[in-house]
Amino acid sequence: MTRLIGNSLNHLLDIVVPRLCIACGTFTKGQTPFCPQCEAKIKLILPPYCPICGKPLPKGNQPHICGSCLQEIPFFDKARSVFYYQNSIREAIIKFKFAESLSLTDFWVKSILKHLNSFIEQISPDLICPVPLHITRLRQRGYNQSWLIAKKLGKNIGIKSRARVLMKRKVTLDQVGLSMAKRKLNVRNSFEVNPKEKVAKKCILLIDDVFTSGSTVNECARILKKSGAKRVYVITLARAISEI
Ligand SMILES: [Zn+2]
Ligand SMILES: [Zn+2]
Repeated sequence: MTRLIGNSLNHLLDIVVPRLCIACGTFTKGQTPFCPQCEAKIKLILPPYCPICGKPLPKGNQPHICGSCLQEIPFFDKARSVFYYQNSIREAIIKFKFAESLSLTDFWVKSILKHLNSFIEQISPDLICPVPLHITRLRQRGYNQSWLIAKKLGKNIGIKSRARVLMKRKVTLDQVGLSMAKRKLNVRNSFEVNPKEKVAKKCILLIDDVFTSGSTVNECARILKKSGAKRVYVITLARAISEI
């Protein structure tokens, strides 16, 4: 009954109080954080893609291991992303970094569950954890956007989530604008596993917002495996188009 009232109230609020589209800022009345125009621009990552890193392959290709993974096998076992990092999704992710939003967290988690449900079932993780922010950045922002998603996702699927399995021990340069080699060097040895957390023999699902070169999640996976993690999988909200 309470739920029924809640739903009706939500519906009423949608009609009475239009919201602002998270991407373009115009008024909208829909159930998603986007206006219909911005929602229409959202592009999902669909097969075929690299079975390891999830990089989308040109249409008509049989799924095959991509050049980057052939050149150097990643430390993570598999990575998948929901959206292309462009248009409305790019805007929403940037805003989500600086303004905590319950409706966006809901949208991200629902999208992961809708599009990557069989992946999650297949990997069957023991533990979900976010890519961490350095403490100074965490203080500036007040929250870690990837933790909001990891926590809610874990709650939805009944899998334990922990905020501080990984810790960022040094402040690194922003990866934007760095070459692939420099990105790798930039994040090298910048993370550590919290000694209070048990990762040995665990299957860990790592959550991040954007997969660009994969250097960050790969470094996290390297450290987790060094501490005995059995398998490390990655889910990011989006995949940057520069890598496609
Ligand atoms: Zn819009
Ligand atoms: Zn690949």
